[in-house]
Amino acid sequence: AQINDSTKDFSTKDMTMFAWTLEQLRESTDGEFIGPVSEADTIRFTSISTDTRTLQPGALYIAIKGDNFDGHTFIEQAVQQGAVAVLVSETVESIVPGVEVDDTRIALGQFARWHRQQMPVKTLVAVTGSNGKTTTKTLLNSLFSQVGNTLATEGNLNNDFGVPRTLLNIRPEHEFAIIEMGANHPHEIAYLTALALPDIAMINNASGAHLEGFGSLQGVINTKGEIFQGLNQIPGRNPGIAVINTDSPGFTDWQQRLQKLAVTKVVTFGSKASAQFRVEHFKTLDSVASGIEFELDFSDQKHLVTMPVLGFHNAMNAAACVAVAISAGLSWQQILPGLVSFSGVSGRLQKTAINNGWLIDDSYNANPESVKAGIDALCSLPGQAVVCLGAMAEIGVGSAQAHREIAEYARDRGVYRLFVYGEAAKNMPDAFGENSQFFNTHEAMAQTVVATITSAAESQQKMNVLVKGSRSAKMEKVSQAILNAL
Ligand code: ATP
Ligand code: MG
Repeated sequence: AQINDSTKDFSTKDMTMFAWTLEQLRESTDGEFIGPVSEADTIRFTSISTDTRTLQPGALYIAIKGDNFDGHTFIEQAVQQGAVAVLVSETVESIVPGVEVDDTRIALGQFARWHRQQMPVKTLVAVTGSNGKTTTKTLLNSLFSQVGNTLATEGNLNNDFGVPRTLLNIRPEHEFAIIEMGANHPHEIAYLTALALPDIAMINNASGAHLEGFGSLQGVINTKGEIFQGLNQIPGRNPGIAVINTDSPGFTDWQQRLQKLAVTKVVTFGSKASAQFRVEHFKTLDSVASGIEFELDFSDQKHLVTMPVLGFHNAMNAAACVAVAISAGLSWQQILPGLVSFSGVSGRLQKTAINNGWLIDDSYNANPESVKAGIDALCSLPGQAVVCLGAMAEIGVGSAQAHREIAEYARDRGVYRLFVYGEAAKNMPDAFGENSQFFNTHEAMAQTVVATITSAAESQQKMNVLVKGSRSAKMEKVSQAILNAL
């Protein structure tokens, strides 16, 4: 009784909600109907779920086989929660109709690819890169939202589940879609771009991030370059546009790759003279509400930009986004308001005023390139620089060396104190020299930082603190403890 009630409730409440038919699912995935087939014609599902804990009534439940669980064991529960149809890869008993396929993960992708092609979205932008994907995705979302209804990847859902699920959130009213694509292994971006079929594909940069899965920087460059394979795959659309970074390793590789793929619309950004969207005269502002200022030169015009974020890399992120937005047909007048009001993404170099300077929370994640970018941003501010670093994960065999190099980099940039946490960072104090310390707990580090800040404030000394580390280091605990204590 409970099941029937919930589905009835749902269908009467919202008649106009977007819905798919089971036949659309079957056809796009090349599957076969299972269960009470007579109902298959009339079934409509309005959302998609792989998790019974968050499943909404009216959903299609997709049974996924993971390493530690098998979604097929939760089918009954899904139906109790209000699932009206199922997608499975095993012959199962089901009281609701469904579609059986060989691999439900692949079928989710096929269905998403089909759905994307049904939607009249004007411009779909795909974004990848070693660093700054979420930042540029978020900024692009702000820019495009000024001119039309825009869908963007939620949070960081950038993998083989996140991308199809995002694509399936596209609705007929969306004019623009911004899709973040991430990869830990070769061929992952090729897979994602084949689902999203972008009109514009942007590579923000390539660096030694996540080397573990790739083996080498060249492996990273190749994988990022796969994004262009999705361009020009839908007949009748405007020619696909590639956006690449003149300053990044891989730039010439990507140019060659684009030539081979016969992608002729290539737009470049960066700080090199050859860049079509060029960052010039970058500086960090000294004012209390500090931010950055730079000139963005394109189409033979110079545009002065100020933004309430930190770091040269954010000027580069902005240039990448403007290159995409202008290529999509937006005007500078439409772009500027979203640019100057962009305050960044939580946990990515976000600044909070403290006693006599800024606490910069960059605790979301870390790899050597983004740590250097963070240190540069920190050191561009007036005052003494304190770095709280949690160990960098996913670096692979070169980890000890990478940590040592970061310590030396910090020292050479004039960092005043380097505090580290996490096994892999243990060698850093030695490499930094004096004024560096290893901590076993977040609390102990935070206490020392608070004491350092307090004594600086007493002597009227300006001091800024950067907190950063890989996700596994959970360094936001340090920022929180510092803010709580001050
Ligand atoms: P992920 O791979 O975890 O999805 P991402 O590519 O989405 O990461 P962001 O979340 O935007 O990247 O930022 C992650 C870190 O990289 C932050 O510390 C941020 O300050 C730094 N960062 C952002 N943009 C750049 C850039 N262009 N170059 C170097 N570092 C950057
Ligand atoms: Mg991201």
